[in-house]
Amino acid sequence: MNAPNDRPVIELAGVKKIYASGKNKVTALRGVDLTVTPGEMIAVMGSSGSGKSTLMNVLGCLDVPTEGRYVLDGVRVDGMTKNQLADLRNQKLGFVFQGFNLLARTSALDNVELPLLYDRAGRWQHTKAMATAALERVGLGARLDHHPSELSGGQQQRVAIARALVTQPTLLLADEPTGNLDSRTTVEVMALFQALNDQGITIVLVTHEPEVAHYARRVVEVRDGRIVRDHPVERRHDAAADLREMDAPDTTDLMEEAA
Ligand code: ADP
Ligand code: MG
Repeated sequence: MNAPNDRPVIELAGVKKIYASGKNKVTALRGVDLTVTPGEMIAVMGSSGSGKSTLMNVLGCLDVPTEGRYVLDGVRVDGMTKNQLADLRNQKLGFVFQGFNLLARTSALDNVELPLLYDRAGRWQHTKAMATAALERVGLGARLDHHPSELSGGQQQRVAIARALVTQPTLLLADEPTGNLDSRTTVEVMALFQALNDQGITIVLVTHEPEVAHYARRVVEVRDGRIVRDHPVERRHDAAADLREMDAPDTTDLMEEAA
C-alpha cells in the first residue's frame, strides 16, 4: 500500500463526458487518463471548445463522467450523488474562476469566510480567524473590510484565492484565473500560485496563454476531448523573479551611453 503522501491527488481513467441536450449529443471528453500527484502544478491548455472546462468540471466534482473512473484523493467520485459531490467539493477542493465570483456587497473577510459557514459537517469554529489568516496569506491582511469594488482586479482575484484556500483543500482548481487580468497582475497572481505550490498545494489551472503555462511544472494539452500532449515545463519561469525584473530601473539607456 502507498503511504498517504504518495497517493495521487487525481486519477482519471478512460473518462468520457457526453452532453445530451434533446436529440443532440456532444462528446466533450473522449477517454481521458490523467494522474496528478501531490505538489504538482499543472497547466491545462487547448483551444476553445477542446474540453478544458468540461475536464475541470469533472475534476472539480461539479459534474460526473458519463464513463470511466475518477478517484480524488483516494475517494471514488464517479457514481456519486449531488449531495455527496457537494460535500466532497467542500472537503477537498478550492476553486478560482476567471471572473473572481465574489459577492459584491460583502467584505473581503466575509467572502472568504463563506465556504467555512457552508460546511455541512460543521468542521470549523474560529471562522473569522481562519478567513483573516487566509487573507494574510495572500497579502491582503490590510484589506479585510474592503468590498470587491474597492479592490483592484488582482486584489479581487487574491481574495478569491484566499476563499479557495480557507477550507484547507487538497487541490486548487483554477479555470483561466488570469483571463481578466493585465499582464503585470497576471504575473503577480502566478507568483502567488507558485508560492502556494512551493508550500505544498497541488494546483491545476486552465490557460490558453503560453506565458502563463510557463509558470507551471507540467503542461497537459487537450484537443477534441483528448489529452494529446503531456510534458514537464522546460525552463520553468519564476514569477517572483519576473516581477523583480519588471520593477528594476531600465538600464538599457545607460548601457547604450557607456558603449
Ligand atoms: P473549453 O473549455 O475548452 O472551451 P468546453 O469543455 O467548454 O471547452 O466544451 C467542450 C465541448 O462540449 C464543446 O463542443 C462545447 O460546446 C460542449 N459543451 C460544453 N458544455 C456543454 C453543455 N452543458 N451542454 C452541451 N454541450 C456542452
Ligand atoms: Mg472553457
